[in-house]
Amino acid sequence: METGRIIWFGGFNRKLQKINDYGFITLEETDIDRDIYVKRREIPEDLQILLEGEKGRGVYVCFDLEEDFKGSKAINVKLKTYTGVVVSFLWKTGKIATKSDVFFHFESSEPLSFGDYVCCGLCHTSEYDKKEAINVKKIPRDDEYEEIFNICVNSNDSEIATPFIQNLYKEFFQIVSNFNNSDYPYAQHLQEDWGKLYKEVRDNEDDKQLIKKWEAAIETNEFKYAQMVSARGAEKLVIKFSCAFGYQVEDISIHQITEQSSDWKLGDIRLDQKTLLDVKNSRFTVNSKDSKAYSEFCVPEFKHKRTNKDKKEKEVYIVGVLSPYLQKQFIDGEEKLKGVENPKIIGVFYQRLLEELKNIIGKTNRLKIDLSRLGNSNSYLPHWLFDYGDIFYEKQIEIVNHFKDFKTKLSDGKIPSWEKISIVGIKPLPLFILARENLPKEWESHLPKWKLEFINSLINIPTSPKKKIISLSHLYISILKHFLQMLEENNPEYTPQGYLDILYENSQRNHPLKIYDPLQTIQSFCNTLQTLWENREKTRLTEFRIFKFRNEGILQGKKASNESWKTIIAYCGGKIKGKGKCGCSPLIFGREKSCSCGLLICPKEECQYCKQSCPFYKERKAQIEKQRLERS
Ligand SMILES: [Zn+2]
Ligand SMILES: [Zn+2]
Repeated sequence: METGRIIWFGGFNRKLQKINDYGFITLEETDIDRDIYVKRREIPEDLQILLEGEKGRGVYVCFDLEEDFKGSKAINVKLKTYTGVVVSFLWKTGKIATKSDVFFHFESSEPLSFGDYVCCGLCHTSEYDKKEAINVKKIPRDDEYEEIFNICVNSNDSEIATPFIQNLYKEFFQIVSNFNNSDYPYAQHLQEDWGKLYKEVRDNEDDKQLIKKWEAAIETNEFKYAQMVSARGAEKLVIKFSCAFGYQVEDISIHQITEQSSDWKLGDIRLDQKTLLDVKNSRFTVNSKDSKAYSEFCVPEFKHKRTNKDKKEKEVYIVGVLSPYLQKQFIDGEEKLKGVENPKIIGVFYQRLLEELKNIIGKTNRLKIDLSRLGNSNSYLPHWLFDYGDIFYEKQIEIVNHFKDFKTKLSDGKIPSWEKISIVGIKPLPLFILARENLPKEWESHLPKWKLEFINSLINIPTSPKKKIISLSHLYISILKHFLQMLEENNPEYTPQGYLDILYENSQRNHPLKIYDPLQTIQSFCNTLQTLWENREKTRLTEFRIFKFRNEGILQGKKASNESWKTIIAYCGGKIKGKGKCGCSPLIFGREKSCSCGLLICPKEECQYCKQSCPFYKERKAQIEKQRLERS
């Protein structure tokens, strides 16, 4: 039998006013440059319908050749058929994969779906110089189905391979993508329109009395007034958020006015008649978007609650709220202001967390990371110590549990190889890490040693029985610890940017390991570490052995215990004349100049702050002032 393509067939002949009862076929892959004549009666009726007129152009057919005195003609014409598997089908158009590792587009009004086994014809369209499938019909599966499926799974063309791999490991990919796409049902309650929130405070008599009690000067001091309204607004935001969580919520703070109890000395809000919350409000200046990641929360002293029952000290949870820094006229709605970010809850801190972090740091021989000053009274808590609790992550926890079930029931073959994972492009590492599940052995050989070590360190973070989720601070400290190890090894394969590939499921970089990170703390931290890493030779940072957080959350280090501390990561605490808080951040060792006092110098020309009491800063400041006067 021969194979050929219809040039044209049948159709209406206007000249003769009748239907043509013949057509022509061109032979495929032969030297004969003649068109083959075909009579209508040589074509079965259902095929005639398919080929009639212009529709038939390019359709592949097979036939026998018959020679007579006029030349060759085609007899016993049939549609050349192929078998294939449907790759996709939507809105009546789809794609079919065939044994030859290519796929064809088609249109059909039959209801088809992925994985259907079909037979079809092919048509070469000259317009796109492409072959399309026609006359697609579902057929019962046979041995060839498996064969096509396997060819597709192993295809080098990722467009073909992806849907087949995803189908072969359907449950696995379903769980991973459910996890990667999971959202946070309570996130909508983390913030509130600032105008509405502050109006509630202004309109409430008790609230007005309360802020006056907090700060008697509010009537004369606009700055204090704005600060107090913002602080009470923050409490109201936390109350609303806790209600959304389903807690029974008591506003204890207001007891200072209503004199219902004196519990306001212990905390601001009580949940379910037992848990006390202390709300800390930190304001960021409207123009300093970058420095928000370095916001800090001052805790005058940690409040403890003594319960009558057990006489044991019970911890008070600190809730951090980040609020816009607004002047009175805006807070009071007298003047409009656009583009203000709403007050946001950034999470909860509890002192036990510092113990958890110490456990993560563990005992290393040469490296020391000292956290002790973070928990002191009057300390500033860096915002990365705050995180949302397990309830906030209920969706993620549900998927993690499902995944753990799936894994225990599973034989190893049901998890795709690293190569297949890469073809599909869905990132499973965040799920494995958050679920504390070891990676399949086969994957390990595809990851650089340092990445594997880092991943395993996260998987093995000591868990507290009450907490299922890895906190933002756990991750932050784990990254820091690992970074310092890499510095010590001076590992040339390593780059801090490489953490991002592991931690993020997509390019948006919002939720490392699906930890809700609205300030993009982790991404910004990795970028900072990258700068430190690139400057490590110049700064001889690899020789540093001892590290500590100052109580502002600033990281310092030194080479040996008898040497002086050098600031490694900081933010500027200086004030610029006539402009207020500088807030420049991050200041990075090696990129910024170090002052002889050991601190980093703010790179802003008009600031150059290190610390207030430094004599060198006083000199620089005098110089800035002199230049300023000369200019004006
Ligand atoms: Zn200095
Ligand atoms: Zn500065």
